Amino acid sequence: MKRSYYIQTLGCQMNYSDSERIDRILQNLGLEKVESMNNADLIIFNTCSIRQKGEDRVFGQMVNITRLRKNKPHLLTAITGCMTRITSTRQDEERDKLLRRAPEVDFVFRIEDLQRVPEIIKNFWSDFQIPEIAEANLASYFQINPAYTSSFQAFVPIGTGCDNFCTYCIVPYSRKREISRSMDEIFEECKNLVENGCLEITLLGQNVNSYGLSNLDKKTDLFKDIDQPFIELLKRIDSLKNKGLKRLRFTSNHPKDLSDELIDAMATLETQMPYVHLPVQSGSDQVLKHMNRHYTADWYRDLVRKLNEKIPGIAISTDIIVGFCDETEEQFMETCKLFEDIEWDMAYLAQYSNRKGTFAWKNLQDNVSLSDKKKRWHKLNIILKAYALKKHKIFEGKTVEVLVEKYGNGICEGRSEHFKTTLFPSDENLIGKLVKVYVERGREWQLEGHMITD
Ligand code: SF4
Repeated sequence: MKRSYYIQTLGCQMNYSDSERIDRILQNLGLEKVESMNNADLIIFNTCSIRQKGEDRVFGQMVNITRLRKNKPHLLTAITGCMTRITSTRQDEERDKLLRRAPEVDFVFRIEDLQRVPEIIKNFWSDFQIPEIAEANLASYFQINPAYTSSFQAFVPIGTGCDNFCTYCIVPYSRKREISRSMDEIFEECKNLVENGCLEITLLGQNVNSYGLSNLDKKTDLFKDIDQPFIELLKRIDSLKNKGLKRLRFTSNHPKDLSDELIDAMATLETQMPYVHLPVQSGSDQVLKHMNRHYTADWYRDLVRKLNEKIPGIAISTDIIVGFCDETEEQFMETCKLFEDIEWDMAYLAQYSNRKGTFAWKNLQDNVSLSDKKKRWHKLNIILKAYALKKHKIFEGKTVEVLVEKYGNGICEGRSEHFKTTLFPSDENLIGKLVKVYVERGREWQLEGHMITD
C-alpha cells in the first residue's frame, strides 16, 4: 500500500519555498501528499522560531502524534526549519536537545541536509520499499527541483543563512552562516519557470542584498570579479522579460545593505515592482544598538528618502518589534514618531519574546512587562491602520494591474504592482492572469474595484 506524508509549514516564504523542495523529494520516493496529519504515515513540521508561539505550536501537536501512533506504529514524525540545529535521529546515540525534549519526534534535519532524508526514512521503514532517487546525490538542496505550488508565481531562494547576528534572532544559529547560490543555477531555475508560464518571481533570502558577498561566498570562485552580485542577478533575471516574465520582487532586505546602486537598479529594471520590504525593528537608536542592527533611525529616514526620490510612489513595508529588552516608553515613542515620518504602507508588528539560544536571551533582560508590550503593540497598530488606510486611499480612482491568485464567492483576489491586496468581482478563470482593475475604494487592508478591459 502507498504511504503518505503531510507537511505543516510555519513562518516565512523561505519555509514555504523549502517545503516545495521537501515535496519533490517525498513524491519521488513514491509517497502521496495528504492534507491532514490524521491520514499521514510521515508528518514533517517545517518550523519557524522567530517567536516563541511558533515553537509552542509544534510542541502542542505532540499529543496528537502520540494519539495517532497508537493505531499506526510505523508513523514517522520529523522537524526541520528554524527549530533545528543539526540533523539527527532517534536511533542516533547522541540525540540533539530537540529530540530529547520531544521524544515523539523520530528525526530532525537541517533543511540544508534535505538530500539525506531518503536514507533516514529507509532506516526507519525497513519494511517499505524506498526507491533510489537522483536527488539524494545532489551537492546542495537548492539543486532539488521544487514541486511548485503555483504555475504563475514562484519563490526562488538565492541563499541561506545569515551573518548579521541581530541579537533577538535565531537564524544565524539555525541556518548557520550566510552562503549564496550560484547565479547560473538561480538563472536556470528562473528561466525554466518563465518558459513554463511563470509571470512573477520573488527572490528569497534572509538578507538578499548581501547576495554573493558573505565570507563563505568569498571562499568560492562563484562571485570573483563581480562587484555587486545582487544587482547583476537582478539584471540577468530581468532579461527574462523577453520570454514572458512580468514581475520581479525580492525579500527580505537589511537596510544597511540596500545600496544607492541597488536603488538605481530597482528604478530602471522593467520587471522590478515598485515595492520593498525594509525591516526597521525600532525607531530608537539605543534599541537599534541593543538589537545590533547597524543603522540609526535617521539613517533609515535618509534611505527611505532616497527610495522615494528615485522610485516615486514606491510602497514600503517593515517589521517592528515592541517591548525589546530595556525599551523605555520614550524609546517606544521614537518608534511611533518614525512611523509618522516614514508612513509605511504596511508593518508587521511583534511583541518581543525571548528566544532561547539568541544573544539577547543570554545577555539581555526581557524586562518589559507583558502588559506594556501589549499596550505598545495596540498603540502602534492604531497608527498602522491609519497609515495603511491613507496609503490605500491614494489608489482610489486609479487603475492597477493585478495578478489574480485566488477566487471565492464571486470575488477575485490578487496583488497589485505595489503589493496591495486587491479584490474585484469576476470569475475563477482569471486565476493566474494579469488584469487591469479600476480602484473604487481603498480600505485599511485592501483595495476594491472592478475589472476593466482596454
Ligand atoms: S538580518 Fe537579523 S533578523 Fe534577519 S535573519 Fe539575519 S540575524 Fe535574523
